[in-house]
Amino acid sequence: MADEYDAFITEETIEGDAEGRLAGTTVAVKDNISTAGVRTTCGSEMLADYVPPYSATVVERLTDAGATIVGKTNMDEFGMGTTTETSAFGPTRNPIDPERVPGGSSGGSAAAVAAGEADVALGSDTGGSVRCPAAFCGVVGIKPTYGLVSRYGLVAYANSLEQIGPIAGTVEEAAEALSVIAGPDPNDGTTRDPTDAEDADATVPEGGYAAAADGDVDGLTVGVPTELFEGADERVVETVEAAIADLEAQGAETIEVSLPSVEHAVQAYYVIATSEASSNLARFDGVRYGHRAEGDGNWNESFAETREAFGAEVKRRILLGTYALSAGYHDKYYAKAQDAREWVRRDFDDAFEDVDVIASPTMPVLPFELGESLDDPLRMYLADANTTPANLANLPAISVPAGEADGLPVGLQLVGPKFDEATVIRAASAVE
Ligand code: GLN
Repeated sequence: MADEYDAFITEETIEGDAEGRLAGTTVAVKDNISTAGVRTTCGSEMLADYVPPYSATVVERLTDAGATIVGKTNMDEFGMGTTTETSAFGPTRNPIDPERVPGGSSGGSAAAVAAGEADVALGSDTGGSVRCPAAFCGVVGIKPTYGLVSRYGLVAYANSLEQIGPIAGTVEEAAEALSVIAGPDPNDGTTRDPTDAEDADATVPEGGYAAAADGDVDGLTVGVPTELFEGADERVVETVEAAIADLEAQGAETIEVSLPSVEHAVQAYYVIATSEASSNLARFDGVRYGHRAEGDGNWNESFAETREAFGAEVKRRILLGTYALSAGYHDKYYAKAQDAREWVRRDFDDAFEDVDVIASPTMPVLPFELGESLDDPLRMYLADANTTPANLANLPAISVPAGEADGLPVGLQLVGPKFDEATVIRAASAVE
């Protein structure tokens, strides 16, 4: 990596069609999103030389709209992390404070935007990986409703949780990129048309989501869940509360809401995400993709030795996931986690009876110093307390800069009802 903050693993350009609505826009793409002819490593030794034969739907849509892809960004290995330090290619630095992490797992994408190396970036968000780095780098990140954006060509970490989402300097720019990548894709059967999703309150403004970034929150009801403020760093809480007070000053009404089940969100998330990951990563066996160890000519040994190319965090998660799914433990862990997921979903449904959006800190902490959290995986997992609920409930969520504390950026998270990205974008544009 040669750029100033080590945001890119590969700097290679894919020119867009000069005509479209994103003509002149540069886009950095997370390195788990396939780009035809440009290597796609997932931040792993396993795929260090892997060059996909096709591009993800989102990449096709961006270049068809005139955007130029400028490179592939650094990330936690296979998306597993909160700091971008589990990358096999070394860490990315936070452009706001280069002694600190940019957040993760899409840290290279957020750093590229914060450093002005790309106008827009794509990340993927399984449990917060677009919103966390956006918060830590002082930029905007959107995790769309599950099913709004095609995952075709995204290397899977945990299919039932993840979505590709845009990161940009402003809500409007992120919303414009979202409009280009959103919408049904015949190659991803989980995608839906937001305007006729039966359980959706969908509103897609004419001309796309950017039109919703009008800063008008007059009459909007903002729910403030106490559970997502408890345990957060005081400096983060103060900054987020000030931003919420500013929304009130602009005509929004705020009311306290309760999401009692979110206390189980991180635990449920880590059981479900690692279970899905343990199944997804079984494909890296040295036969079909990437790194291959020969073993002693014995296929079993060759499979096992090939896995030397996974880093420690990935191995830990495969073990956790395999354990959670194994006979005798399935009901104890996986089935319980699915129950908790349902409770979280219901808590949000109840809250959205009374409010339009739910506001909280994106991250309960300020950006970690480089190296600070690497030996303490549990501490890293707990930092996902506020972001994982939206993935469990498949809801749209955005992180928007709320201000600074001790010179470091603080993100405000807004979560909305399914397919109602327009309201989330509207509220976020009033925070800027
Ligand atoms: N930090 C979370 C994890 O490590 C989220 C990652 C993500 O959203 N890809 O799993």
